[in-house]
Amino acid sequence: MKTLPPVDVVIIGGGWSGLLMAKELGSRTGLSIAVVERGKQRETADYLATMDELDYAIRLHMMQDLSLETVTVRHNPAQRAFPMREYGSFLPGSGVGGAGEHWNGISPRFQPDCFELLSRTTEKYGTKRLPEDHAIQDWGVTYDDLEPYYTRAELLMGISGKAGNIRGKKIEGGNIFEGWRSTEYPTPPTKIPYFSALFRDAAKTLGYHPYPNPAATTSEPYTNPDGISRPPCFYCGFCERFGCMIGAKAQPTNTLLPLIQARKNISIRTASWVRRIVHERARTGRRARGVSYVDAKGEEVFQPAELVFLASWTLNNTRLLLLSGIGEPYNPETGKGSVGRNLTHQVYFLPATAFFEKPLNRFMGSGAAGICVSDLDGDSFDHSGLPFLRGGTLLALSLGYRPIANFGVVPQTVKARWGSEWKKAALDYYDRTGGISFSGEHLAYKGNYMDLDPTYRDHLGDPLLRLTLDWRENERRMAEFVVPKAVEIARAMGAKEVTPFPGLRSYDTTRYQSAHIQGGTIMGSSPDRSVVNPYLQHWQTSSLFVLGASAFPQNAAANPTPTILALTYRTADAIVDRYLKNPAALA
Ligand SMILES: Cc1cc2nc3c(=O)[nH]c(=O)nc-3n(C[C@H](O)[C@H](O)[C@H](O)COP(=O)(O)OP(=O)(O)OC[C@H]3O[C@@H](n4cnc5c(N)ncnc54)[C@H](O)[C@@H]3O)c2cc1C
Repeated sequence: MKTLPPVDVVIIGGGWSGLLMAKELGSRTGLSIAVVERGKQRETADYLATMDELDYAIRLHMMQDLSLETVTVRHNPAQRAFPMREYGSFLPGSGVGGAGEHWNGISPRFQPDCFELLSRTTEKYGTKRLPEDHAIQDWGVTYDDLEPYYTRAELLMGISGKAGNIRGKKIEGGNIFEGWRSTEYPTPPTKIPYFSALFRDAAKTLGYHPYPNPAATTSEPYTNPDGISRPPCFYCGFCERFGCMIGAKAQPTNTLLPLIQARKNISIRTASWVRRIVHERARTGRRARGVSYVDAKGEEVFQPAELVFLASWTLNNTRLLLLSGIGEPYNPETGKGSVGRNLTHQVYFLPATAFFEKPLNRFMGSGAAGICVSDLDGDSFDHSGLPFLRGGTLLALSLGYRPIANFGVVPQTVKARWGSEWKKAALDYYDRTGGISFSGEHLAYKGNYMDLDPTYRDHLGDPLLRLTLDWRENERRMAEFVVPKAVEIARAMGAKEVTPFPGLRSYDTTRYQSAHIQGGTIMGSSPDRSVVNPYLQHWQTSSLFVLGASAFPQNAAANPTPTILALTYRTADAIVDRYLKNPAALA
């Protein structure tokens, strides 16, 4: 193996978390930094010719190549896991910018009690209400700790929205159930397309508190505190699964990359696949010494570094720790070990698909344009008499209705499943259909976890990551509760027919249900039950930091990226202000 000249910092993965850390450390310290990214180089100009639904949204042009690396999945330890050979329930990204290039841009904060879920839930409902095999934990960080960093993340991306709680003052028209925020959103809400406006008005008449979805597609020209300017969105509807051709959607390549490229002390190495974090025994615990990777020429190289950041997203973060033999793998039978525990997804489905008389002009939209209702989120409502804990947000999104994915949805009253009757109905309903979606909280359970698969390997010969994952009664009851509420709103919107969601059964790898997977390298205030401390620093290997949603002990209902960025900013501050002066444990 060839050894390269040492650098100060190596960062594995060039997505939102890796590039934000590179930008922060690179511009504030002058350290030499190498970002090692397995995918290819990307920039905004690449997206000028990407409005191709088949290539990008159906054949998933921008996602990880499953023939090189995938995961295996099973519902419980008694089953044999099989490799996921086609994408379905989630979509990992690859290449500079990571999944942040083709994300929707839905950008809410987590509710404050999510960070203290175990203590707050126990305090209010007692331990008996917790599901039998739950593994929920407090994060070791509170919403108040994170608030200034959420604000920085929103300023970085120029989030469009309407505040519902500024320093405790509730503001009608915003999300009155959100945690306090120190300031209004950087830009006003996006335009609200017709379908979403119908939802807003109906929800209001039923007593809910609708508000505009916080969006990373800016509503007006915006210049962020780093001096990066982006134009406003023009609602073409090619956001989710596409890179934004004008740069209106905040993406790592339009928000961070220009700053990184302007710095001589940061380099990005593409087509470079990290296989191991190299580490050794040190006087105080272990020390990460760098990474080994296969470079663009197919050569195995060792990159020595003083500081290592693992920023390769939830699944790869967990897998690389397991492959590298860092920390104790989680054992669900004994409860010992931490690496791989608390795997969570998001409870995401369409509780009501509504069919209208009038056309909805659904071709216009953007990845996060729409209206939300959070009256049923978290603990915003009393769960005393209910058969589940927590909840989620109802959303009427107007993403831009692209024809291949959306053609052919007809009401249940249309009996034909093919032929001219079906074709006529499919055409009639094409622009008169709207789905109300639900984004719900997924609790952590002892039986949902990740480990290395004993059978299947990737293209380099390393074991694949194995997911053991299934829904529990808490999620199923939550879904049953929310479906009639969404159907009621759809009817109040004037829908002539409504198809309700049939219910959650077992975890289904074929149905897309958001790309939000969490856990595996979770954070906490004690090394017994977590992998990293509240500064995302590895408990035993203090020169290793693990960024991203793998640190979340469980998922909130909300989408994860603002929380990922807030935690990354907080870690960057702790490193610049404290660790570089005294390279030791930060907690
Ligand atoms: C279709 C879609 C829509 C989404 N919409 C939203 C949304 O609306 N709101 C929201 O909050 N979030 C959304 N997300 C999720 C969001 O994109 C992620 O939370 C965010 O991008 C995570 O950033 P990250 O840096 O942790 O990981 P990533 O963006 O996944 O970046 C990790 C990088 O690491 C690289 N890598 C992995 N393994 C290796 C290795 N072994 N060696 C070298 N490099 C490696 C990958 O190639 C990748 O570029 C969406 C995701 C998808 C796919």
